Amino acid sequence: MKKLNGTVIVTYRCNARCTMCNRYKAPSKPEEEISIETIKKLPPMYFTNITGGEPFIREDLKDIVRELQKISDRIVISTNGFFTDRIIDLCKEFPNVGIRISIEGLEKTNNEIRGLKDGFNKGYTTLKKLREMGMKDVGFGMTVQDKNAPDLVPLYKLSDEMGMEFATASLHNSFYFVEAKNIIKDRMMVGQHFEDLVNELLNSNSPKKWFRAYFNHGLINYIYGQKRLLPCDMSFDTFFIDPYGDVMPCNGTKEKEVMGNLNEMSWDELWNSEQAEKVRKIVRNCDRNCWMIGSVSPAMHKYIWTPALWVIHHKFLRFWKKKKYSMFELKVVRDYRDGKVTKQELDACSTCDFRCGATASNGLSEASMQQLKEKSGEEIVAEDLKSQFEGKND
Ligand code: SF4
Ligand code: SF4
Repeated sequence: MKKLNGTVIVTYRCNARCTMCNRYKAPSKPEEEISIETIKKLPPMYFTNITGGEPFIREDLKDIVRELQKISDRIVISTNGFFTDRIIDLCKEFPNVGIRISIEGLEKTNNEIRGLKDGFNKGYTTLKKLREMGMKDVGFGMTVQDKNAPDLVPLYKLSDEMGMEFATASLHNSFYFVEAKNIIKDRMMVGQHFEDLVNELLNSNSPKKWFRAYFNHGLINYIYGQKRLLPCDMSFDTFFIDPYGDVMPCNGTKEKEVMGNLNEMSWDELWNSEQAEKVRKIVRNCDRNCWMIGSVSPAMHKYIWTPALWVIHHKFLRFWKKKKYSMFELKVVRDYRDGKVTKQELDACSTCDFRCGATASNGLSEASMQQLKEKSGEEIVAEDLKSQFEGKND
């Protein structure tokens, strides 16, 4: 059986208050969250991303990792880095997992965007402790937007000094983020900071970073609302599974697209079902043009020659012609600079729904929706965490 690339959303509970994501307002009910029995039904994977919400809110995360290790060649956990002791404790038992901590800028900017008191210091301390423990696969993740774009290169340099990976993203709208109004306002300014990052990455001696440069070049293309530089093959050899056991192609769709529920059927039944085929057709016709590492990394492996030729071309220009990368190599950026396309036209190419009210789709189950009638998501998670930590020191 061919190994797949999977993302397991273990919970929709979250303790942060990010400005670009409303997931914290729409938590899943703990009793409904994906069980070890369902995790055991997942197929062999060459890569597994564990994410949330905030995955470390789940007290049985170690049990989940233990099961996933049996079927996955590599595991990376995405976290906001707040629960330092839980992260360290898990890494002691599983030193081979990767950890990506989202840091949204230098201290002031990060704390404003993430809405966590002392969030930057917590995240940074966690990263440093993991490094001291000898964890190899640790790094930063940053979602670039107008507010934090000036921190992009300084943060990359910080990660580089610490010998850590640096993963970037930009604003997306979807049921997963419970958001439909994310948009980059000053594309020239944000693009300029991405351009600087691309040049830093191309200037390094690491082939991995050269490919990251291509990814960031693709992010400039994305914020201008253009067609993806590589096809999107989500749901063909890649999948997401949500806390309810629903298997989906990705986390970028407006509404949740479900291929089948793994609590109710076997993996083979689900993967080969008519419903899964229907969803694959939707993916083939999808025009959302996301550019997130989850969908781009498999595409970069599959269509390796496109990024490889881009890298060779730019390394050649750098070395022989002393020419740096410029975002104006993208036609749309030149057209915008030259006034051939307006901001309104570019806004219309984005997934931002200016007409959408406060209610973006959230993909919650009926029971999870029900609990929101009595309390807000923030209250539910705060009470939940209080009872988890009562009497403990972590
Ligand atoms: S982006 Fe992540 S940390 Fe921030 S609110 Fe959403 S789920 Fe929580
Ligand atoms: S472009 Fe791909 S990742 Fe984005 S919503 Fe469409 S199918 Fe999902």
